[in-house]
Amino acid sequence: PQEIFDQFYVQNEMSIRGFAPRPVLSFDEAPFPSQMKSILHRLGYQRPTAIQSQAWPVLMSGNDLVGIAQTGSGKTLAFMIPGLIHAAGQTISRHGDPVVLVLAPTRELAQQIQNVCNDFCSSTNARSVCVYGGAPKQPQKRDIRHGLEVCIATPGRLLDFVREKTINLDRVTYLVLDEADRMLDMGFEPQIRKIIRYIRPDRQTSMFSATWPKEVQKLADDFMSNCSHITLGKAVL
Ligand code: ADP
Ligand code: MG
Repeated sequence: PQEIFDQFYVQNEMSIRGFAPRPVLSFDEAPFPSQMKSILHRLGYQRPTAIQSQAWPVLMSGNDLVGIAQTGSGKTLAFMIPGLIHAAGQTISRHGDPVVLVLAPTRELAQQIQNVCNDFCSSTNARSVCVYGGAPKQPQKRDIRHGLEVCIATPGRLLDFVREKTINLDRVTYLVLDEADRMLDMGFEPQIRKIIRYIRPDRQTSMFSATWPKEVQKLADDFMSNCSHITLGKAVL
């Protein structure tokens, strides 16, 4: 009942604004295929983290989302499982253009996200490709040519690939900006804005950040609509 949810919000110092479906407090309640749930159990996880509890029902409903939560709160699976389920619902593309696009600030973070993704890809047959700068283009191009549903990318290299038509973003309908504050700190705002211009407006967009400065708020205002805002713990709104 409502009391359980109130207690959940208080215990996790969570606040939510906008569309707020009831949080999913166990994997059993999560609106996922059973294969996904077994992977969660196999990985040794017992229950959703707080951000997962609230982000999953928001993202599974198709709503846009801003999630403000500290490092280590489980944000990757918060967006990745709904993203993979989203991708599984699309028809396979002949050209292997991505359906899910995750932008991240660094190669290391992009690779970490891909590792998490790969744990779950088997349950949906989704293929992921990681795209980042500071490394030769050819191996990444080869991966892209093999086909992909999920692209995890740093902004600079992705924009190069889009401009040279190695990657086509026409089919992206699920966009994630992970570590948005760090991406802006690193000066990626112009690239992010250019990338988003290639993506159809009727996409689902989510943004995750550890902090919520003006610049990140502006990005959210410019690229998201009617979004739910989840704030966790000591993150300042
Ligand atoms: P963030 O992106 O918020 O910094 P991560 O997604 O990197 O957090 O997750 C932090 C750690 O928590 C990872 O080691 C991950 O495996 C673990 N983790 C994620 N979800 C759960 C869960 N439901 N239960 C236990 N541990 C989890
Ligand atoms: Mg993270």
